[in-house]
Parts: sequence; C-alpha cells; structure tokens
Amino acid sequence: MTAAAYLAEHAFVDGAVASDVLIETDDGAITAVTAGAPAPADAVRLPGFTVPGLANAHSHAFHRALRGRTQAGKGTFWTWREQMYAAVSSLDPDSYRELATGVFAEMALAGITNVGEFHYVHHAPGGRPYADPNAMGHALIEAARAAGIRITLLDTCYLAGGIRTPVNETQQRFADGDADAWAERVETLRGAYAGARDVVVGTAIHSVRAVPVDQISTVAKAAEQWSAPLHVHLSEQRAENDACLAAYHRTPAQLLEQHGALGPRTGAVHATHLSQVDIDILGEAHTSVCMCPTTERDLADGIGAARSMFEAGSPVTLGSDSHAVIDLFEEARAVELDERLSTERRGHWPTADLLRAATAAGHAALGRANVGALAPGRAADFAVVGLDSVRLAGTDPRGAVESVVYAATAADVRHVVVGGRVVVWEGVHRLVDDAPRRLGAAVRALYR
Ligand SMILES: [Zn+2]
Repeated sequence: MTAAAYLAEHAFVDGAVASDVLIETDDGAITAVTAGAPAPADAVRLPGFTVPGLANAHSHAFHRALRGRTQAGKGTFWTWREQMYAAVSSLDPDSYRELATGVFAEMALAGITNVGEFHYVHHAPGGRPYADPNAMGHALIEAARAAGIRITLLDTCYLAGGIRTPVNETQQRFADGDADAWAERVETLRGAYAGARDVVVGTAIHSVRAVPVDQISTVAKAAEQWSAPLHVHLSEQRAENDACLAAYHRTPAQLLEQHGALGPRTGAVHATHLSQVDIDILGEAHTSVCMCPTTERDLADGIGAARSMFEAGSPVTLGSDSHAVIDLFEEARAVELDERLSTERRGHWPTADLLRAATAAGHAALGRANVGALAPGRAADFAVVGLDSVRLAGTDPRGAVESVVYAATAADVRHVVVGGRVVVWEGVHRLVDDAPRRLGAAVRALYR
C-alpha cells in the first residue's frame, strides 16, 4: 500500500484536541503525527474532527434483522429471546454472509473499523455440522472483508440451554457437544487465518448458563494457549445470578474466577448486576467490561456500574450488541448519562475517557493493541466526523470531544480509513455498492 498524507482540521491526539494535524501513513500504519505543521500540497484535507477508528467490542450481526420488529409490545429479555431465536431459523452461510456484509457496512459508515463478533450460530438446523463445520464463521469473516473492516471473530462455546438444562431445538445449532469438540473446531478455524492482518480468531464462553461449570476451564485454557481474547456474557439478568448462586453457591463472576476464565484478555459483556465483591474480582484481574447501553435499555436489563468497574481496574469498552441502533457515540454518552439517571448526579466520566472506551480500549479488548490511537506506529485507522451538520454546527474546536461524544450521531461520520485503505468517503461506502439497499434486501429475505 502506498504512502499517504492527510491534513486533519482537528484531531484527537494524546487525549486532547489538536488542530492542523498532519497524519502520514505508509503500508497500513501511521508513520508520523504532527500538529500545526505546514502540510504538503498533496495532503488530503479532512475538514472536521478526526478520531481513531471506533471499536465495536460486542456484536451479534444477525440481531440487526430484529430492528424495529421487537421494540413494540410488552415482555422481558426472555420473551425478546424467543423473537430472536425465530430469526435464527432462516440463517445459512449464504444468507448470513449477505446479511452480515450489510451490517458491517453500516458499521463502517458509522466510523467503526473493528468488530468483535460474538458468534454462536455454528451449525445447521438440528445441530448438524455443515460440510465445513466452520462455514458460518468463514461467512462472517468474508462479510467483514467485503465491508472493509477488521474482525475479531469470538467463536463462542455454547453447550447448554441453562444450568443443568440441555439445549432446546433452536439452541442445537449453537452447540458442539463439549468444550473439547469446540476447541478442536476453533483450532481449525484459527489455522485458516494464521498470519492474516485483518482477522483475529478469539474465543467466548456464551455465559455461565450455556457452558457447564466443568467445561469452563477447557475454554479458558484454550484461550490462554492461543493468547486469544476470551469474552463472556456476565450477569446481564438477575435470573442468571439467581440460578448460578442456587446451583454453585457462587456468583457468575466468582465462578469464572474460580475456573481461570478472568484476566486482562477477558472481556465481560454487560456486567449489569454485580456485587461490590464481583466488581473487585473483575478489577483486580484487569478484565475489561463491555457496556452495551442501547441494547441494555432496549432489553430492560438494567444499568451497570461502569464507573465503579473502571475505578476498580477494568477497562471499559462499548458494543452495539443487538444493533437496536449502530452508533458508538450514542453508546459512549449513554455510559455517562445512564449513570446520571441512576445516581442523580452528573459528571462521572471525563469525556476523553468515553472516547477512549469507543476506541483504544475496545481495540485492545479485541486483541488489537496496535489500533485505536492517532500516533506513530499505530494502525492507520481513523474516522472523520463532520462538524458542519445541523447537530454540530457551532462546535468550539476546544470542545470538539464533548460536542462529538454528546451530540454527534453515526450520520455525522464523513470519511473512514481502515489500515490505510479508504472505506468510506463523503458518507458513501466505497466497497459495498448501495449499502442501504443491500442491507434492506438481506433483512427482508430472512422474513420471506
Ligand atoms: Zn451479546
């Protein structure tokens, strides 16, 4: 890839706003970042506020098909799950590749350059493996490549329908039988992408509901052997805590710690209903926590204690999870604003920390410590937010971080560069032709 130079009007550098920033790139990496320097005449001008590429640390791509279809009516997380399972039934490798291509294109248009895809729809209906048992995983990776974004495929171990409960008919598609069989399948998938720059094959424990206690350490050991990210849904619902305490006399966080599943490579997703002891356990292990506020509010989960977890030692990351919306600015401000509602106090988070949750912290939790900052040696991933929309008109450059975190939407993202390649320009996806039409067709095809 050839060298390029960009002149950002304003940019997020070293945790603050800098102006007239020359960003030089070569072979997919940033080689120099210079503020206030005269720019070469051929530098590409980037009006607005340039931020590192955003990291979507928790995604289930197929949930995008539920948008607008599950928000009405009454119910709980558990009644929503029945609607979600109905959407699973029409997925096969071809339909999933097509849907995920559209979903990942939507992410790229929102400034996301890296997705953590928490993937558990592994097999054909009834649990029969496809001719290639990793056909669904390959489909998701091909979709990310088609959409021009990085992917960490968090291949998920899912073995049970609940604690001491077998999988039901829908869940058969998710299950490998036991954790050894899961590890064998994932090892083959990892082999297929060894050395790939754009793909990390990571791991996940769906939850303490779906992985029996005697299987947890097998997954944790595989992740350790591979030095791979290990993500897990944690205490999203009080019912999970109650069942775990009743069966094992421990909370889910305590159970994961006991079986070696916590540590800096681990990402706990939601972490909504935790005790102070749980928060301390996660913090001491430097396990990251992924907040998904737009999903958590949609599913009536509750509000996690994000700031307490951060102060205890857990990096905080963000995910659009069920894709009720795909907008990491909305997720970022919700972390602060939801805590205001639950505590009746303002100002829990320095705004730059929220932007770091949306960028560097998320990439690190996806196994990409080299992405997420505008600095020499980091990957050339960045997104340019226009400051001239009706939402952001009047932005004071010194307050660009606050304006963008509290008022920007995904629609304000103008240009996106991933590993030095222009993926979005002037709000249009350069690799996926007519992304809205293609995504719409893929969603409608599932309901035929
Ligand atoms: Zn999830």
